[in-house]
Amino acid sequence: MAAPALPMDDRDGVIWLNGQLVPWREAKVHVLVHSLHYGNSVFEGERIYGGKVFKLTEHSARLHKSANMLSYELPYSVSELDDATRLVVGENKLDSGYVRPLAWRGAEVIGVSAIGTKVHVAVAAFPWGAYYAQKAIKLVTSRWKRPSPESSPAGSKAAGLYIICTLAKDEALAAGAQDALMHDYKGRLSEATGANLFLLINGELHTPTTETILNGITRLTVMDLARKRGIKVVEREIWPDELSRAAEVFLTGTAVEVQPVAAIDKLEFEVGPVTQQLMADYSALVRA
Ligand code: PMP
Repeated sequence: MAAPALPMDDRDGVIWLNGQLVPWREAKVHVLVHSLHYGNSVFEGERIYGGKVFKLTEHSARLHKSANMLSYELPYSVSELDDATRLVVGENKLDSGYVRPLAWRGAEVIGVSAIGTKVHVAVAAFPWGAYYAQKAIKLVTSRWKRPSPESSPAGSKAAGLYIICTLAKDEALAAGAQDALMHDYKGRLSEATGANLFLLINGELHTPTTETILNGITRLTVMDLARKRGIKVVEREIWPDELSRAAEVFLTGTAVEVQPVAAIDKLEFEVGPVTQQLMADYSALVRA
């Protein structure tokens, strides 16, 4: 993704912050908020199509789940978050674009324990185009491994878990690729830095189990679309040497949608008929 034309903190529009719409440039936090020091904010990424957020309630519910996995509760219900999001999208007059809900723990205490902090929530929305400039992208395998579920709350979209994603992504960009493919702590295929992985092997779609990944809302949607087309979907542990057996490879995610992969390291893949069918099906569904 290219650098945005305008810095994210210097734009017109409004942001929903703790129940109020505030002018964009005034949606600020103090330097001593707990989450800035200890990485325990949680967030979502949602896409707007035709003025509506696709799978809005699923995203609002996942924000709750992400916070709960980090032992805190959000002060707004799922339906209040849905309403806040619709309000922000409408007030900013967005027909298409991206939504970034965020929850974090406040500045009441400093130290590792977060007990006694207040929970804050914001929802911002802004125009955002395609995630990658390329029709089919090149991935490189990262040296950073997705941690064991005993070492991190893998199903939480928690800011701290993105430390290794940012390292992996920036190293991939420096190597001339568009993104990184991450293995997990056992050496199995896991996911990209912000998207889930699918391989077409012998006409079946294979995707890693949810042990070390974020179980994407797009992943579940695309699995459903594939089954509706009569394609068998298999969730299992997948090892890197199996990539050479894949006829097609793609990523899924809210931001990347269904994204063909042209290469992983030295292996090359076609943008084949199954990938093209699922891209078309997904595009039709999100606009339905
Ligand atoms: N994995 C990671 C690490 C992600 O950041 C994302 C984007 N939220 C995904 C997978 C895909 O999730 P979703 O389809 O819900 O956007």
